[in-house]
Amino acid sequence: MPKPRIVVVGAGFGGYHSLRGLERLLPPGAAELVLVSRTDYHLYTPLLPQVAAGTVNPADVAVPLRSLRRTRLWTGQVTGADLGSRTVTVRHHDGGQSTLSWDRLVLAPGSVTRIRDVPGLREYAHGFKTVIEAVYLRDRVLAQLERADGLPDGPERQACTTFVVVGAGLAGTEYVAQMRLFVASALRAYPRLRAEHIRWILVEHGHGVLEHLPPRLSHHALAVLRSRGVEVRLSTLVDRLTPDTAHLSDGTTVPCRLLVWTAGVTGSPLVEDLGLPLDRGRLTVGADLAVPGHPDVFALGDAAAVPDLGRPGSVCPQTAQHAMRQGRAAARNVAASLGHGRARPYRHRDLGTVADLGGAQAAAAPLGLPVTGPPAKAVTGGYHLYALPGAGNRLRVATDWALNALLGRNTVSLGLVPDAAAGLVRAEQLGIDPPPEHSPAPSRPPA
Ligand SMILES: Cc1cc2nc3c(=O)[nH]c(=O)nc-3n(C[C@H](O)[C@H](O)[C@H](O)COP(=O)(O)OP(=O)(O)OC[C@H]3O[C@@H](n4cnc5c(N)ncnc54)[C@H](O)[C@@H]3O)c2cc1C
Repeated sequence: MPKPRIVVVGAGFGGYHSLRGLERLLPPGAAELVLVSRTDYHLYTPLLPQVAAGTVNPADVAVPLRSLRRTRLWTGQVTGADLGSRTVTVRHHDGGQSTLSWDRLVLAPGSVTRIRDVPGLREYAHGFKTVIEAVYLRDRVLAQLERADGLPDGPERQACTTFVVVGAGLAGTEYVAQMRLFVASALRAYPRLRAEHIRWILVEHGHGVLEHLPPRLSHHALAVLRSRGVEVRLSTLVDRLTPDTAHLSDGTTVPCRLLVWTAGVTGSPLVEDLGLPLDRGRLTVGADLAVPGHPDVFALGDAAAVPDLGRPGSVCPQTAQHAMRQGRAAARNVAASLGHGRARPYRHRDLGTVADLGGAQAAAAPLGLPVTGPPAKAVTGGYHLYALPGAGNRLRVATDWALNALLGRNTVSLGLVPDAAAGLVRAEQLGIDPPPEHSPAPSRPPA
């Protein structure tokens, strides 16, 4: 009898950890494990602000998927899933297509940047969700310093040294906090530029930064940003963008050459296209992570609205911690559906959140206990080293930190990502969507 095939879509926190769990829980030969992923690595996103800020090497936050020893990796993008015929369609990097059948389907495609109806946003803003974007943003900031250094004092020079970040969640707050220090350190190479030439502006429509953290931590993060000279504009929206100016809802206009958009995500388009019930763009699932009416289909992470049993009536937030733990829960429940072990609902015990603000500053709430400053920094570093999979990656990241402390941060521009590839959303799809003139390679036989 052929082995049942479990197909996992996406190798982020949810997908990667469900496969690690399945490899552990299923006896050898019990099932065929297939992972469809756009990349051959799992990306540890919480360290992306440090990649952008030159304290961690880009490759060190990429965990090789080939380390999943019992899993067959298909690199490509799932473009559709047919729950009736139990197949998914996969588009490969060469443009070719394949059909892959499954007995259990685990959907973990994460989220995509939420594009609001802001004129000019698509054209002129940059996103921050991938390692490609982190590398690009570092280069872009350095390129603007380089250009400003060659300009006379005046409006154009000021615009080149003005950086706007929208969204004060984890990604935006950590990014601006880390980049502020990065630029301060890079300025040593630009004798004609002084710290007072540089403006970092954080725009947030809510009333605070990191509002999901306990108030003491949120206030601490705001105080750190302000003490570093970051202009934090709360209760403010971006109304309109032009190639050289951000128009804000408080009536001000900010001439700038870089705007980074981190104001929210929505579920992957893949789950939207299934025609199943959604909750604000995320696929509705039960507490066992199965899709109602489809007991062989599971969904988790940012793409799924998983009931939060600790807070009846609400769903789990879109965090790495939830996605990782849901991955383990999905593994247990998928294995149980094949007769190995018992299914259990997903129930979250909060280990606390951490936010690294660069330098000696951080905010953390390990097991609900709020800490700030150097003790929080130690907790944050320890948490990342615990949560980052793979001894090799951990050692590399720890070495990056040690070398950074000893030698200072790396402020070179790698120049790997062209402007055209780094537009908002484009980098999230890099290497997948063939350009329009590309004629697709022939379909491959079904597997
Ligand atoms: C810069 C940044 C910093 C963050 N910091 C933190 C933090 O400090 N703490 C925290 O808890 N959370 C943080 N987050 C949020 C966290 O990254 C997400 O909540 C988490 O990654 C969700 O996990 P996931 O598995 O659902 O999705 P993801 O980790 O996004 O993984 C989804 C994967 O599926 C792939 N994929 C998508 N569609 C397809 C398809 N059709 N076919 C094949 N593959 C597909 C994607 O390329 C991706 O690799 C941060 C996010 C960002 C962007």
